[in-house]
Amino acid sequence: MKWNVWGHPLKETEQFFQEGGFPRFRAKQLHDYLYKRYVYDFAQMTQFPAAMRDWLSENAVIEKPEVVRQQHSSNGDTIKLLLRLSDGSLIETVCMKHDYGNSICVSTQVGCAMGCIFCASTRKGMERNLTPGEMLAQIYAFRMLYQIPVHSIVLMGSGEPLQNYENVLQFMHLCHAPDGLNLSYRGMTLSTCGIAPAIYQLADEKIPITLAISLHAPNDEIRNRILPSSRKYPIQTLIDAARHYFNVTGRRVTFEYILIKGINAERTHAEELCRLVGDMSCHFNLIPINGTEHIQLYPPDHQAIERFSQILEKHGKSVTVRRQMGDEIQAACGQLKRRYLKDNS
Ligand code: SAH
Repeated sequence: MKWNVWGHPLKETEQFFQEGGFPRFRAKQLHDYLYKRYVYDFAQMTQFPAAMRDWLSENAVIEKPEVVRQQHSSNGDTIKLLLRLSDGSLIETVCMKHDYGNSICVSTQVGCAMGCIFCASTRKGMERNLTPGEMLAQIYAFRMLYQIPVHSIVLMGSGEPLQNYENVLQFMHLCHAPDGLNLSYRGMTLSTCGIAPAIYQLADEKIPITLAISLHAPNDEIRNRILPSSRKYPIQTLIDAARHYFNVTGRRVTFEYILIKGINAERTHAEELCRLVGDMSCHFNLIPINGTEHIQLYPPDHQAIERFSQILEKHGKSVTVRRQMGDEIQAACGQLKRRYLKDNS
């Protein structure tokens, strides 16, 4: 079988060349072609001797997802791409332009097994894990198409990253590699619905990424209702894991909290939330729920959002309310894919 050269650490590519009887430095040249010059055809790699190009064509392929749909928001701050993988699966990725730079939202699985009631990605369950190369290709799709610099990445697309632990870790190492994107770990945020044992494991990796936990509720009763997977890890277990993550890494944890009218957005919920996290050093990202009319879940009105935020602030918490980016282009998880499948069925 031919080796897919896309999405490997330099060491592995070096090994591939050495096993083929070629010098190690060719690996670095190949990486320059793939990740700096965007050349995806061995025949065009003219820095290589002809015999080596032939050997590559016989023994290797460059297999990475292809872009099948692009959507731009009207104000230009969000671009969403739909990618088709080599097995025909579809995944979504989003680029958000912020004042501080471009942030890419990466999917980690095809579909998702977590079953959150508000999330379009999970409707059909989880099909498979993405490879590190398939995650990396999401970032390169934007770089190639729009030549944009990437400032940060957020693992907040489809899928539960901590269920695809090894590949996600390897992907973050690839993003960090100097011969690749050379991104700092501080520019990476991993968002999880809260698989507590994997949070302990991640803390031990000693990489200074930001951990974001989709908390979405101040107690188990509400959380179990909207995040069915949370039944396995009670909310207090999760808070303990977050505290541990901060103690070991020194990185302040972010709690994501979707605001849903009539479910978790009352004053009492905000107060309960403050009691739950206590004096822990953390940040809250409040997210008015997005694009879920079909299951009749709506964001609270502006005043209620403001009130919720103020209560957290009064308790000394740092809070941001997520701007509603990309709503018009179905930027919430899984919504572009659903639309595409509908159009093409
Ligand atoms: N599985 C991971 C990462 C993917 S989801 C996690 O649960 O964190 C990324 C974030 O988007 C999560 O906080 C998720 O709860 C949120 N999200 C999903 N659907 C949403 C919707 N319709 N409106 C607002 N946020 C949503």
